[in-house]
Amino acid sequence: MIIGKILENEKRIKFNAEIKCTNCGVHVPGGLQTGESYFQTDDFKIELEEFKQNYLCGICRDKKRVR
Ligand SMILES: [Zn+2]
Repeated sequence: MIIGKILENEKRIKFNAEIKCTNCGVHVPGGLQTGESYFQTDDFKIELEEFKQNYLCGICRDKKRVR
């Protein structure tokens, strides 16, 4: 998954984050990517937190769509 911004021709940073589904609590393999210049900036940290707080696993996302 990609979060934040990756500029054209920019090197991607791959990192792992602890991600849990906010609905069922299942752990999700948190392989994420972002652009080198964005990684570890304040914006990046905020975006990562928001991403974690809103994350739904595939199953919960599907359920939401059906309802
Ligand atoms: Zn879930």
